[in-house]
Amino acid sequence: MAGNGQFDTIIEKGTLIDPAAGRNGRFDIAVKDGKIAAVGADLSTAQAARRIDASGQLVIPGMIDTHAHVYQHVTGKFGLPPDMVGVRSGVTTLIDQGGPSCMTIGGFRHLVGETAKSRMLCFISCYLVGGLEGHLYPDLYGPIGVNAEHTIRVAKENLDIVKGIKAHAEIGGQSRWGLDVIRIGKEISRETGLPLYIHLGQLWPTADSAPIPDADELIRELLPIMEEGDILAHPFTRHPGGFVSGSGEIHPILLEAVHQRGLLVDVGHGSHFSFDVARKVLDAGIMPFTLGADMHGYNVQVPVNHGSDAARSESPFFGVAPFNLTIAMSELLHLGVPLEDVVAMVSANPARLIGMDDRIGSLQPGHEADVSLLKIETGRFKLSDNSGVEVASERLVRPVSCLRAGELFQADSPFIPDAIAA
Ligand SMILES: [Zn+2]
Repeated sequence: MAGNGQFDTIIEKGTLIDPAAGRNGRFDIAVKDGKIAAVGADLSTAQAARRIDASGQLVIPGMIDTHAHVYQHVTGKFGLPPDMVGVRSGVTTLIDQGGPSCMTIGGFRHLVGETAKSRMLCFISCYLVGGLEGHLYPDLYGPIGVNAEHTIRVAKENLDIVKGIKAHAEIGGQSRWGLDVIRIGKEISRETGLPLYIHLGQLWPTADSAPIPDADELIRELLPIMEEGDILAHPFTRHPGGFVSGSGEIHPILLEAVHQRGLLVDVGHGSHFSFDVARKVLDAGIMPFTLGADMHGYNVQVPVNHGSDAARSESPFFGVAPFNLTIAMSELLHLGVPLEDVVAMVSANPARLIGMDDRIGSLQPGHEADVSLLKIETGRFKLSDNSGVEVASERLVRPVSCLRAGELFQADSPFIPDAIAA
């Protein structure tokens, strides 16, 4: 295997979990020219310019964050510096959820996409303005701010980076315009052949003049518009208009949509994640397909007067519970989801979702050398949510480093939360 020249890098002595390749165990990985060159039980005799000792670490296909906000400087306060969320957090691929629009996709490609070290993809916004601060200016997000023909054309011209369509089904918008925007979003999705990604859970204030709509009615109206392969986001939200009905049950039509009609679920963690809701949704048999972190410029900051219930309720975003993609993984482990399934949610599954499973999401020879190295600390770690729940988790997933197309990055981002002893 090593006879025909030396490798650039060998990652050795780690435990590999690669769900798409069906591997779980002790494997070494060799990289050459930015691609996976070999995977073997023992490559210790092979020659390499660099050897990375992954003893005691978990080696997985480069993590894909399906819900990022990294269109920095263009999307108001939302956009974070890409590589702090990406490679310097051990995440090799970022999918910006609805930041760029048909008019601003060029900036996403050239200003942030080409300068970031992380692989930069997006779900293009259904709205002309893209992902601005809609909670401040909800009127920008009505049907008048959508142009299907323009968005379809631009999405088709940018299929190398546009992997889906993003829209919001939430009661602030519903109180103004019903779900007309979602129907236009589905038209864009159908014409482009790209999945439709729907934000659930109240985000925008309801219109002053209109009566507050029935959050359960929104789900009943929304689901028939969505099709197999479309994505429902934020299943674990504590905000109204999510997976749990007003009477505290999982909507039966949601179960049917997920189990029989092939709708997919993305965690889209954010600051509204609730352990209680997560437990309820998982207990009902709804398993997320992917695990977006949904970090943005509001929810990675802690408000000045944190700790008070007033601080928690004053904004839909602010929170005191620090999180990122690996904290979301730790929470799912704590909730009883098997490690191999959690790994699939950040690798094999999102790669399939965006139709790139022939290049990323698995460590097979010829694939991109996108690799994440993690450490699973054991002990008692405090995890918390913004409804005030705290749990003691026996495992905490921490990023160590990653290779992105063969280039090594240490996980030194200030966005990686500290481990807190329980
Ligand atoms: Zn988001």
